[in-house]
Amino acid sequence: MERVIDDVIGKNPHSKDLITAFKPLFLVRERLIDELKLKPADRSRIDAERLRQGIPCIEQTPFFSKDDPWEQIGCAVASAIGEGFPALAEDAAKLGKEIEAGALRLFDAFEGYPASVAAAADRWAADADIKPQAIGLMLSAVTRIILQVRSNGIGDHIENMGWDRGTCPICGAHPTISVIREKITQRWLHCSRCGHEWRFTRMLCPGCGKESPSGIDYFYVDDRKQETAFTCDACKRYLITLNHISDLGDTDRDVTAMGLIHLDLIMQEKGFTPMMRCEWNTF
Ligand SMILES: [Zn+2]
Ligand SMILES: [Zn+2]
Repeated sequence: MERVIDDVIGKNPHSKDLITAFKPLFLVRERLIDELKLKPADRSRIDAERLRQGIPCIEQTPFFSKDDPWEQIGCAVASAIGEGFPALAEDAAKLGKEIEAGALRLFDAFEGYPASVAAAADRWAADADIKPQAIGLMLSAVTRIILQVRSNGIGDHIENMGWDRGTCPICGAHPTISVIREKITQRWLHCSRCGHEWRFTRMLCPGCGKESPSGIDYFYVDDRKQETAFTCDACKRYLITLNHISDLGDTDRDVTAMGLIHLDLIMQEKGFTPMMRCEWNTF
C-alpha cells in the first residue's frame, strides 16, 4: 500500500497533500481488512430474482452485527484521522475516548442502516461536541472496513446472477471510478463504499441508465488519454474512468481516484456533478 501511494503521488504531485492526509486511513483500512475475521454475510439469503429486480445484497441479508468489534475498529480509525488531519486531531481524540468509554456506541449508526447513520452522526456531534467532518470520515471508513470484510466471497457468489445496474450489487452505492481493461474492453465500476467491482455495459450511463443523446463522451487533459472523465449529457454527471489499463494487480482504485482530483475540479467547473459524492471529491 505504501508503494502504491508513493507511485500515485509521484505521477500526480498536485494530489500529494490530499493523499498524504488520507494515507493513515488507507493503511489502517488495509490492516483491519486483513486482520478481522468476521463471518461473511449469509449468502443463502441472497435471491437471484431479487437481484435481477435491482435489490442489492445489503437489502437482502444483514451486513452489520451488534457483535462486530466496533470499539477496536472505531479507535483505530479515530487515531488514523488524528494522524492525517491535524485540524481534526482534537475531535478524533475525543471520538476515540468516547468510543473507548462506551459513551459512543458505533453500532447505533448501523443498526438501521442506512437511515440510522445521519441520526447517530447528528447526535454525536451535538452531545460530544465533535466536528461533523471528523464523524463523517470515521463513519465512511468504518462502513468500508465492515462491508468489505463481510462481503468476502459474496462478489464471486453473485457474479452470474444477472445484476445489470450502474449501482453496486453489494451495497447499492454509485461508483467513484471505472476502469476499462486492455484486453477485453469491458467497463468495470468500482464502489468506494464497500470496495466491490462489477461489470457494466459501456453503452449506458451508470448514473441514469440512459444512453447519452450526444453519444458517449470522455474528457481528458493534455496527452493523458488513459485518465478520463466519462460524461453524461442526460444527467449531467461524470465518472472518472481509466482507459486500457493492463497492470491490474498493483493498484488501489481509491488512491488512483484521489490522484485524479484535477479532473474532478475541471468537470465540476464545467457544471457536471460527480456520480458519487465522497470524502475527497466534494469541494
Ligand atoms: Zn458497494
Ligand atoms: Zn446519466
